[in-house]
Amino acid sequence: MHSDPTGVFPGRYSDGQTAQSVPADVRLTERGVEIGFPGAPQALVWPYGALGAATPLTSKSADALLTYSFMPGATVFVGDAHFVRALTKVAPQLTSSAYGWRSARPWIIAAACLALLFAGLWLAELSPARWVAGMLPDKARAAVGEQVVNSMVGDRKECTAPEGRAALDRLVDRLSQASGTGTRFKVRVVDWGLLNAFAVPGEQIVLTRAIITQAKSPEEVAGVLAHEMGHGLELHPETSIVRVIGLTAALELMTGGGGALANIGLGLTQLTYTRVAERQADARGLALLEKSQIAASGLVDFFRRLGELESKRGSSTEWNIFRTHPESGERAKSAAARPTYPTRPALEAQDWQALRAICGAVKPEPSGDKL
Ligand SMILES: [Zn+2]
Repeated sequence: MHSDPTGVFPGRYSDGQTAQSVPADVRLTERGVEIGFPGAPQALVWPYGALGAATPLTSKSADALLTYSFMPGATVFVGDAHFVRALTKVAPQLTSSAYGWRSARPWIIAAACLALLFAGLWLAELSPARWVAGMLPDKARAAVGEQVVNSMVGDRKECTAPEGRAALDRLVDRLSQASGTGTRFKVRVVDWGLLNAFAVPGEQIVLTRAIITQAKSPEEVAGVLAHEMGHGLELHPETSIVRVIGLTAALELMTGGGGALANIGLGLTQLTYTRVAERQADARGLALLEKSQIAASGLVDFFRRLGELESKRGSSTEWNIFRTHPESGERAKSAAARPTYPTRPALEAQDWQALRAICGAVKPEPSGDKL
């Protein structure tokens, strides 16, 4: 193909949005590369300084595939050596010698790649922390989880009454299976009067004695468990820990380094989630309940009562489920709006009694909140 004497080169233009390309008349003008379309009055003009080339151009290149910084995805292809030679004179940054200059400064490229990576993550609505959390090996997640549990639980006793434990395991298995991920959650109960439930890295969940004794039905415990499993499945605990320890320490964890672990010393206050995360955990939790044929009403009731208590007490300084789970009322509303489905009891009556006594005989909470 040879050039038109008037300086019009036949090319193909693609807007990057649709799969097809269209014929275009390409000209080199004072303002930049002009891309005209047969029958269309308006032409595009891509200034030379903002042009890019898919491959560096040389004086021997037979064609050029050009990009334009301000129209990501759009390309124009011209299969004409004359065009390429003329273009390299007005846009020298497209030549291979210019690329050689760039490769002499690899850190510029590295920085650009990193910027692109983060821009991509941002565009995908993922945070770098979430991305790193997803790369952590299971062993590292489990080890970090253990550490969080230990630092929070302190000297408090773990409740392990065998019958209560067996009942809890049955409920946890049922909900874990519903996740369809082959993940079996590890749930522990701690002899603690604070109303709380939390997910920690490595598919681990801690329930306090108060959550179990204040629940009015096994469905309420199942609802709290399902919500916390939702956090675990979404890697929320891992993500917030990566945010806290920083990406560098997380990378150390990722590659199996143990050094970062020793210094984490994490508290649960660092495991509070955003509103978006809470909604994701709810959505996951409600799906788990439905798949396990457990009524969502337990979750709804429990959170509704929590919401009432929350508004009565105002803002609490205690670290408890009220602080980590804001907007209980809104959550209860959205859960209640879901369609109903066939259900069976979360636990048989006998198992429920056993679970309630997992920390020993149930006695009234001395200063416990009346739910
Ligand atoms: Zn939550």
